[in-house]
Amino acid sequence: MARIVQKFGGTSVADIPRIENVVAKVKREIDAGNQVAVVVSAMAGVTNHLVDLTRQIDKLHDAREYDVVVATGEQVTSGLLALALQKQGIKARSWQGWQIPIRTDGVHGKARIEAIEIAEFSRRMDTGEVAVVSGFQGLGPDQRVTTLGRGGSDTSAVALAAALQADRCDIYTDVDGVYTTDPRIVAKARKLDKISYEEMLEMASVGAKVLQIRSVELAMKLGVRLRVLSSFSEDPGTLVVGEEEIVEKELVSGIAYSRDEAKITLTLVADRPGVAAAIFGPLADAAINVDMIVQNASGQGRTDLTFTVIKSDLERAVQVLTQKKPELGFDDLLFDPNVAKVSVIGVGMRSHSGVALGMFRALADKGINIQVISTSEIKISVLIAEEYAELAVHALHAAYGLDAD
Ligand code: ASP
Ligand code: MG
Repeated sequence: MARIVQKFGGTSVADIPRIENVVAKVKREIDAGNQVAVVVSAMAGVTNHLVDLTRQIDKLHDAREYDVVVATGEQVTSGLLALALQKQGIKARSWQGWQIPIRTDGVHGKARIEAIEIAEFSRRMDTGEVAVVSGFQGLGPDQRVTTLGRGGSDTSAVALAAALQADRCDIYTDVDGVYTTDPRIVAKARKLDKISYEEMLEMASVGAKVLQIRSVELAMKLGVRLRVLSSFSEDPGTLVVGEEEIVEKELVSGIAYSRDEAKITLTLVADRPGVAAAIFGPLADAAINVDMIVQNASGQGRTDLTFTVIKSDLERAVQVLTQKKPELGFDDLLFDPNVAKVSVIGVGMRSHSGVALGMFRALADKGINIQVISTSEIKISVLIAEEYAELAVHALHAAYGLDAD
């Protein structure tokens, strides 16, 4: 008998007929003799609506109360799915994060899972009861409800799979798997049968939007084999596994893009040791993640510093930096939310050169200006004007021979 974690995203539980479709997917695993824990997201659109309600009151809200509000979407779907399973004669109960409990740190709104007290939960599964778990939520050290950041129910599923030593963690969504790029933009995008954790991490972090980044990090760390597949088809999906399981390593396996970042430039920052730490320290303290960074010295003991943050953090980042202006001593703070990051990704890059040049040429051919460049061992990213994002993705997908014939 195997233990399976199945996670269903917002579109998979968007209404009652779809929840009934989920019941069929759960029943199939039970009929195969497996024990099943199901993790659910909120119904599609619900979390956005809840976030919006909190913002209507105050954009700089108390994160503990924000969590109280936004965690409710998952409570609804876990209860509904438990009811729908029971109606089909399947023994099931819902579990909220605090009931298991899934213990997190105290960073409300972006909490990290620290421990899952699995004994009682596991015992109940052994009795043949399907556990329906509200994703996205946990219990903080202050004994209050926490949430794991947007898309966090993927992470709930992976953490639960690890705690249960599950044989598989199947992430059901509204796409057939992981594609070479967003198929809504490039019709010739191809589905990948397998992708390494590391590539997937890069695909997710640059906006492939299939899995929350943290869930992939956690799966890689804990060795949880993930499968991404659609609730609405019978396609076997894409396996996300260790690099050693991938025999044919592609030079470039995918092109990703993100419109989620905003660019900030501080002009004429003092060019001396400690300045970068003085700037990024307060941002880190405010839990604002910085992604691309470029610094170019002007030669006069001053330098311009450009970096990107998540668009939704832009306001807070500007606020934090403006407050610190007297200490930091920069001249001007410029920001631009109308940017896009486009990246080429592939483990094959580790052993091949010339990939970056191919990218710069393909973009130059389309007359697209590059604002910031960053690279890692398996990824090259550029920041460009948002209006050129789709053109860039098309051009690169073709340039690296990824178009399906
Ligand atoms: N409902 C939450 C969100 O939309 C968590 C999730 O769907 O993973 O971010
Ligand atoms: Mg999701």
